[in-house]
Amino acid sequence: MTAPLRLRLDGAALAHNWRILAAMSGDAACGAAVKANGYGLGAAAVVERLAAAGCRDFFVATWAEAEALAPLGVQISVLHGVREEDMAAALRGVARPVLNTPAQVARWKAAGGGICDVMVDTGMNRLGLSTADVASGLLDGLTIETLMSHLACADEEVAMNDRQLAAFTALFGMTGAKRMSLANSAGIGLGRKYAFDLTRPGLALYGGIPSPELGAIHQVVTPEAQILQRRTVRAGQTIGYNATFTAPADTEVAILNIGYADGYFRGFSNSGTALAEGRELPVLGRISMDLVAVDVDGAPQLAEGDWLALDYALPKAALQSDMSQYELLTSLGARFDRIWTD
Ligand SMILES: *Cc1c(COP(=O)(O)O)cnc(C)c1O
Repeated sequence: MTAPLRLRLDGAALAHNWRILAAMSGDAACGAAVKANGYGLGAAAVVERLAAAGCRDFFVATWAEAEALAPLGVQISVLHGVREEDMAAALRGVARPVLNTPAQVARWKAAGGGICDVMVDTGMNRLGLSTADVASGLLDGLTIETLMSHLACADEEVAMNDRQLAAFTALFGMTGAKRMSLANSAGIGLGRKYAFDLTRPGLALYGGIPSPELGAIHQVVTPEAQILQRRTVRAGQTIGYNATFTAPADTEVAILNIGYADGYFRGFSNSGTALAEGRELPVLGRISMDLVAVDVDGAPQLAEGDWLALDYALPKAALQSDMSQYELLTSLGARFDRIWTD
């Protein structure tokens, strides 16, 4: 059975993006954040393709995500560390935990857990040990592969980036960690000194462009939906919930099988566009849960059953929908067939 909506996923663009980010990382290795189902694309398919391109370090948020990828046999780190409930999976060696709290460190030491990663907070005040924890010797006795921290404002040119860089650099040599890692996608754009030994891009792998430095990134994801009905809306009539669009003249309209339940958000109401052979077809009226209306005036060839792509160039789509590029990716729903080219 095929679905009436699909994601076109460009495998060559994904690999291209990883290679660009790896090159920008200089001597540092370039990993991949594949949490949240590979940012909505499908984590296993993403990991297979990136591993083939040369990627060796993968990051997920939870142990369930790590378990799902275990059959692929790649090196995975679990960013949220280990709760008691996770210890069985962690001790089976499904992945390495990224220890974030003194309790997690104590739990890992008590279990004789082996090689781990450690997250240090350098100012974001999200996850991680404090630099004072590190200085206190809390980590003594651990075998740390990667010491990491995370940038709060890497997509902005602000002084906080340099402050976090300085705080992280000051940890060099204090833990016996084999590698240090600071930069996400936007952090790679900040320059080589942010790359340390390993970078951890997510967004830009999948076509997101968080800063102008990443302008060479290619679009990977294009949602497509089938036309369920074509109709003529007479001048003065309205389209969709709450009648937010009134046809100024007789207008040809196609109703597409996609909606906000698929991640095509309500913010695209009267602002999104579909694409047909290079022509832009404006979204008309509100996005429904499962349906969207687009203007097909001037596209007489489009008929019930035909497929239309939605314009999902992420920087532009983020502006149109008032959502972040991250949300646009990670909300892509379960109803799509995910179809890879290359
Ligand atoms: C999600 C995440 C990343 C990837 O960030 P992007 O902005 O998507 O490149 C890197 N490191 C950590 C700790 C993360 O949580």
